[in-house]
Amino acid sequence: MADAPARLVVDRDACAGHGMCYGIAPSLVEPDEQGDPVVLVDPISPAQSADAETAVSVCPERALSLVSASPPFDPEGSSR
Ligand code: SF4
Repeated sequence: MADAPARLVVDRDACAGHGMCYGIAPSLVEPDEQGDPVVLVDPISPAQSADAETAVSVCPERALSLVSASPPFDPEGSSR
């Protein structure tokens, strides 16, 4: 992804809680009490984009994605 601001988003319906995302990018994603991923950084900085792309790529459920940070984030969306 280019240097445009981006956000990591978890599709909670698709997520199976494998933990591979927060295992490989602990500075960006951490598990909650149930082991579900919580995105820690919003938006992702350009310096973090490679780690974010790696986290997206290791998710076997394709539940993690990088989306444009504009238009403004929808607080009713699937990331928190
Ligand atoms: S790797 Fe994918 S399926 Fe596993 S916890 Fe992360 S987002 Fe969920």
